[in-house]
Amino acid sequence: MFFRKKDFLSELSPDEQDLIRFEQVAVAYKQAFASIFLLFLGALITLFLFYKTPTVKWVGIWFTLIIISLIWRLWVLREYRTHLKNESTKRWEKRFYTVMITSALLWGWISFFIFQTANPLHQFFLIFLISGIASIASGTLASLFGLSIIFLTLLLTPLFIVMFFHGGFEFQMMGVLVITFFILLVSAARRIHTNIMSALISKIFHQKATQALELSEEHFQTIFKEAPAGIFYYNLDLVVIDSNTEMMQILRIDRDRMIGLDLNKLTDSCLDKALNLPFNGEKGYYEGTYTTMIQKLHLWITLRTSPMYGSNREIIGGVAIVTDITERVVAEEKVKHQAYYDYLTDIPNRVLLKDRIEQSLAHYRRHQSIIAVMFLDLDNFKSINDSLGHHIGDMILIETASRLSSICREGDTVSRLGGDEFVILLGELGDDPHIAATHAEIVAEKIHAVLSIPFEADQLEPITTSTSIGIALVGSEDQNADDLLKFADTAMYQAKKEGRNTTRFYQEQMDQWIKKRLFMENALRNAVKNNELELYYQPVIEIGTKKIIGAEALLRWNHPELGLVMPDDMISIAEESGLIVPIGEWVLREACTQFVRWRADRLGKSHIERIAVNVSAVQFRQSDFVDKVIRIVAESGIVPSMLELELTESMIIDKIDTVIEKMNRLRTAGIALSMDDFGTGYSSLAYLKRLPFTTLKIDRSFVRDIMLDKDDAALVETILSIASIFNLDVIAEGVETIEQFNFLENHGCAYFQGYLCSKPVQVPTFEELLSYDVQSCHTRK
Ligand code: C2E
Ligand code: MG
Ligand code: MG
Repeated sequence: MFFRKKDFLSELSPDEQDLIRFEQVAVAYKQAFASIFLLFLGALITLFLFYKTPTVKWVGIWFTLIIISLIWRLWVLREYRTHLKNESTKRWEKRFYTVMITSALLWGWISFFIFQTANPLHQFFLIFLISGIASIASGTLASLFGLSIIFLTLLLTPLFIVMFFHGGFEFQMMGVLVITFFILLVSAARRIHTNIMSALISKIFHQKATQALELSEEHFQTIFKEAPAGIFYYNLDLVVIDSNTEMMQILRIDRDRMIGLDLNKLTDSCLDKALNLPFNGEKGYYEGTYTTMIQKLHLWITLRTSPMYGSNREIIGGVAIVTDITERVVAEEKVKHQAYYDYLTDIPNRVLLKDRIEQSLAHYRRHQSIIAVMFLDLDNFKSINDSLGHHIGDMILIETASRLSSICREGDTVSRLGGDEFVILLGELGDDPHIAATHAEIVAEKIHAVLSIPFEADQLEPITTSTSIGIALVGSEDQNADDLLKFADTAMYQAKKEGRNTTRFYQEQMDQWIKKRLFMENALRNAVKNNELELYYQPVIEIGTKKIIGAEALLRWNHPELGLVMPDDMISIAEESGLIVPIGEWVLREACTQFVRWRADRLGKSHIERIAVNVSAVQFRQSDFVDKVIRIVAESGIVPSMLELELTESMIIDKIDTVIEKMNRLRTAGIALSMDDFGTGYSSLAYLKRLPFTTLKIDRSFVRDIMLDKDDAALVETILSIASIFNLDVIAEGVETIEQFNFLENHGCAYFQGYLCSKPVQVPTFEELLSYDVQSCHTRK
């Protein structure tokens, strides 16, 4: 115990050790007061006992000294009480030692009076008095252990000497008893001292712990109040108990709303998991968007939750720390956006473009889905910029970006590399390079058309520009984005060299493309001679009666090596080579003849009333086109009103007056005219009024998404109402599902064509279709 105390003492700082000493001295002073009266009484009785003895003189001196010493003690004790702070502990301790040592010497002295009296009772009283004082002192002085040993030694040594040397064995034994008594008292004093010290050390430790607790509470309060994060705690019912100011600022609510807030009722449930995890003793974390319940703020936050424990380590709720990272996220998004988007036009920049090309190339490597990179350069941009100023230049670039974006599909990427250079990435063009190239060429045509529309600038004449376009299609799996950009760039320079406002493919591809075209052209020339062309027919159904009431003739080419060639692969070649003129004539004649035959045969219960024939723009532009048609009609014997020529929007845009004149002549001859692929071009409401069409054919691209895309559905509805205003028939193309059919029926569309009834088929199959009970045409599918 004693050694442990030492251990503890060594753990204490010098200040704390001083404090212990101070307490020890304080205990001693306190105890010293209580014994004064007893000592006075003892001294008085002693004086009384020796009153009639010859030693009274010495006893009187002794008594006087005792009284002085007691007064002195009283004075010192009073001083201690009143002026404690003025003196150091050491000084007080020293004074106390002096007082006590004096007292011990004086009381030790009375042992020499013992044998001055013959009365054994008096002797006994003195021994009893000395023993009593020794016993009390061993207790009262125990806080200063050293002093208690000195006191007892000084008090008991005279008694021992007097006993031991008085003579006689009995007195010697009593002397030994005095020593034994001394040892007992010292050990008792030591025990009491140890207890006092333990109590004092515990007190210091307790004080230290309390201080540390107070400090940590203070620290926690500082953190809670000053932390640059929102902090709140909640109980097991998910009700907020307390929150710091920062938290309320994040949520922009006041204390009244925050305290007692029921977290079960948060409108945004994204925090639920993180808030509940602490109840299982786990930590929770959430990072993401959060919409606040009261102010409806859209924030980005991080939320960390931990369990909150009660005094028995049981979970009593959770603590949540919230950081509002909205500004940081917005800044990061902005930086990200700036890294990937062009600052002027806000379309993807070179970095994002390359990334998208690489992604598309990866897709190409897996699925063989061809991509095209189109490099565009505005032809006269530099001179516009120099002559009209940068702000006009910027305006044109912004407008160009927006026009390009408007004609591209959602999956395509329109980007700006810098200056007046734009690159368009066309993805997923299928696995046939020929079709992919055709598609890219069509897009290029659209680009030329859309960029040739003059740019309107404030208070200036409209500005016209044109573009040179270079196209590169991916040709092999080892090509990368840089290769494709380089090829497209090279092709663009080629286009510039060959005259502006043109499109060029990258040379290697051009070679292949041209070779293939030449081959196809030659083959097509022979096709007419060799009777390789054939007409397929697709039924036109009246929606109200579900009867086949007509057919569209669609061209097919049975090539001995290539197999069945579709119109998309041959019409453009036929048009460019001029072969479309004889081919078109053949188609018209063939279709009319076939129709007349069917009318004569009156197959089954059916009775078809019209035959539609597609007419190419090149064909239509021929000056003798109308005459030829009228001649073929006459020769075939078809009733003119049963023939319907399908024209496309592209052929009616230029030379509108000639077009109208030709159309009127055809109408005068009784021939019906339909506008094919209505909705895909730029025309045409304005023209629609002036052009003598009898029918509109809604392009199948609108019908396809009629059930999925609200815009397409609305467009089809609009076309149907316009048609009814202009008193035109409407045929919906590409109807494949019963839902599309129902939609059209509900919206008053009169006719449709599509796989729901039948694909374009050869003559015998078509005749079979006619001989069916056509009532069930669409229900067969
Ligand atoms: P078009 O005049 O719009 O003909 C309709 C096209 O849609 C046909 O393609 C037909 O097979 C297809 N089609 C019909 N119903 C559906 C359907 O439900 N789903 C889908 N996915 N497709 C459907 P085709 O026969 O390949 O003809 C393509 C285009 O070639 C025609 O479009 C027309 O513009 C042109 N064409 C065809 N024959 C001739 C012709 O003799 N002369 C001229 N100048 N052009 C022709
Ligand atoms: Mg057509
Ligand atoms: Mg069409």
